[in-house]
Amino acid sequence: MTKNIRVRFAPSPTGPLHIGGVRTALYNYLFAKKNNGDFILRIEDTDQTRFVTGAEEYIIESLEWCGLKFDEGVHISGPHAPYRQSERKELYKEYADLLLAKGFAYYAFDSSEELETLRKEYESKKETFFYSSKTRLNLNNSLTISESEVKQKLLSGEKYVIRIKIPENEQIVVNDQIRGVVTFDSSLLDDKVLYKSDGMPTYHLANVVDDHLMEITHVIRGEEWLPSAPLHVLLYRYLGWEKEMPQFAHLPLLLKPDGNGKLSKRDGDRLGFPVFPLQWIDPKTKEIYSGYKESGYFPEAFINMLALLGWNPGTEQEIFNLQQLIEAFTIDRVGKSGSKFDPEKAKWFNHQYIQKKDNKTLAYLFAPVLIEKNISADIKYVEEVCGLMKERINFMSEMWDKSAFFFTAPSVYDPKLIKDKWKENSAQILTLFSENIVNLQNHNIDSIDAFINEFLTTNQLGKGQLMPLLRLCLVGNSTGPDITQIISFIGKTESINRINNCIQKVK
Ligand code: GLU
Repeated sequence: MTKNIRVRFAPSPTGPLHIGGVRTALYNYLFAKKNNGDFILRIEDTDQTRFVTGAEEYIIESLEWCGLKFDEGVHISGPHAPYRQSERKELYKEYADLLLAKGFAYYAFDSSEELETLRKEYESKKETFFYSSKTRLNLNNSLTISESEVKQKLLSGEKYVIRIKIPENEQIVVNDQIRGVVTFDSSLLDDKVLYKSDGMPTYHLANVVDDHLMEITHVIRGEEWLPSAPLHVLLYRYLGWEKEMPQFAHLPLLLKPDGNGKLSKRDGDRLGFPVFPLQWIDPKTKEIYSGYKESGYFPEAFINMLALLGWNPGTEQEIFNLQQLIEAFTIDRVGKSGSKFDPEKAKWFNHQYIQKKDNKTLAYLFAPVLIEKNISADIKYVEEVCGLMKERINFMSEMWDKSAFFFTAPSVYDPKLIKDKWKENSAQILTLFSENIVNLQNHNIDSIDAFINEFLTTNQLGKGQLMPLLRLCLVGNSTGPDITQIISFIGKTESINRINNCIQKVK
């Protein structure tokens, strides 16, 4: 029987979730759902010094906004609860002890000051100090002092750490689903700390123990964890779990728009786009980082954009809803190299999703703005305006600026347009036009078009002598859709009022 697919998203609550993290969660989710598997949220908070208030809640809220539902997790519990590592604290000691008993780990008593001094000494020789097979036998640990001394130190409450004993000159193979076989030389790895005397495991031990106990089948995570993978492979081996070891997939980085380095949390606001799903206010500095949600992105557009940053469907298709992404997603189509983040493409996706929304939904989203502006308009009319104008916007927040003239007469007139287009006979032409349009019987585009053409022919005028003036009167500037369309929306009475108003003001 094949095993039920189980993946986890395992963030540390050290700050807001960056879009790279959201993408990792998304790929985990897509992979799980594609394979009828489970998607689990585990909070890795063993490093209490890096804990940030509100980060866990932020992570949960962000993924909820994205529509990524977990099957088990810190916020909904499940058969492997608790899902927060600080609450699983007691459980890890047993495995650290097992590694000690098997001789795969050892106690080390070196103080941080002693290690710092060594680091400096090595640095002055242009070398790097690390705790390893080359140095451990000259250091203060259970491999160099007697058993009774170790016991005594532990009994007296001396601070210690438990370190893994990395073997010398071994090739450690990590089979990565994206990168293929990656081989690491164990001599280049250090004896990482697994456990500390404060009773907390480090990331490495907790991560491996939990992935095993939670029956995780696939570890899909950022590329920054690839260097830790050989250590994790050794831990699975030493704990006797190598046969059930999860498969690894290390995702490529998200890069800055110019491709120069990793997209960092400061890049977004510096370059004018959000790098976080939701707005984040740093609890200490009160600094505000913008979010996709608050910037007017639809979660579907955001997810669609992220999915394609590193994965491709193998076709030209770009627009995918979540269900379509699940169906199309396979790990073997995740690329090896980093993906440049393209803020313009992100806007393009939002634009596409606005086009897909029906006019009713858009009117509903636009309504609060109209209320705020004290505009009362028939909802059907609002729907029609939204339908006409949606192709001109990327965000609903742009709707008012682009379509205010459908709801209210202009109060200012573009001086440049006046300077360029207002001639001596302009007032006369406009007056004539407003006197004639009274007779317009029908407000459909064709009738208005025919009416304007007839007006121009009868009065021997060119389009250029009338249309820009009409636009000035009706809109106040040179933006907006076709004049016939505007007249058809606002009607002849309102058009006449605006024309007369404009003549008064410009004169
Ligand atoms: N806690 C790690 C992080 O914050 C998780 C790494 C992993 O998925 O193994 O990214």
